[in-house]
Amino acid sequence: MTVSHFVLQSECRFVKRVVKIIRAEHLGMCFGVRDAIKLAVREAGSRPLTVLGDLVHNETVLAELKQRGIEFRNDANEVNTGTVMITAHGASERKLSAVRARGLRVIEATCPLVHVAHSAVAKLVRQGFHPVIIGLRDHVEVRGLTEDLADYDVVLREADIEQLQPRTRFGIAAQTTQPIERVRHLVGLIRRRFPDAEVRFIDTVCQPTKQRQHSAVELAQQCDAVIVIGGAHSNNTRELVETCRRHCARVHHVRKADDLCEEWFHPDDTVGITAGTSTPDSVIGAIETQLHKLRATKEIRASKSSIHHQGAKP
Ligand code: SF4
Repeated sequence: MTVSHFVLQSECRFVKRVVKIIRAEHLGMCFGVRDAIKLAVREAGSRPLTVLGDLVHNETVLAELKQRGIEFRNDANEVNTGTVMITAHGASERKLSAVRARGLRVIEATCPLVHVAHSAVAKLVRQGFHPVIIGLRDHVEVRGLTEDLADYDVVLREADIEQLQPRTRFGIAAQTTQPIERVRHLVGLIRRRFPDAEVRFIDTVCQPTKQRQHSAVELAQQCDAVIVIGGAHSNNTRELVETCRRHCARVHHVRKADDLCEEWFHPDDTVGITAGTSTPDSVIGAIETQLHKLRATKEIRASKSSIHHQGAKP
């Protein structure tokens, strides 16, 4: 965990406070997203390229990639280049075949840890388990995990477990970015609801997600306010917000430095910073700099008000 202190030598002789801003030990862009961006940039250097779906939930990075001529489409039927790239979230064989059938060259930037999740689900099905995926039904990674399956369930909340039909064998895996505590809780519920069934769980939550979730808890427990940085559509960022809110009353989700509001902070706050797996270092740095500026402004105001108060006549 990185702690940055600065002592404000303000014009006030009565107030001298130590401002503390703490970064989570693990935060920001994961290796899977970094590698996907590098691959896109490299490929775009030698041929026209379209990325299918969201490569990264960050407007600044997307704008830079578009400037390099990279196109973004959600539907393979709208692709105008000869080469398409699958994002770190991966895709089903069915989708890959459909894209290739259109005569397009496919480059996969699928994260190795998403491949691990695909292998886990395939293994469970081969062994005769009914696959249950813990995750967001419409998330691109979950669609990739399920589109090749004949029969499966996707669960996210306790109520979803009530909807499951009885089976003799359940094989459970998770979307890589789900909080592991939720995953373990839901696996326990399935075991309790179907005590006679054989339930096998393969933990496919990725290590970067576990590290960011764990660090977010540690951070939120020691801060007065937490800033979570990430795209509005970033699922893992929203999960970080939810996790931090369980441990800290003041949690704000921001995308860029301009989103910060001075009113969110009090003069003696310890403020924590964490960020989702597609947030670049430059955005985290800009927000930390802006936080220092806001805190300095607030403390100078507090100092001035203290001078005024102490100098005031009864
Ligand atoms: S969040 Fe995890 S699985 Fe997804 S790209 Fe990053 S490292 Fe890979």
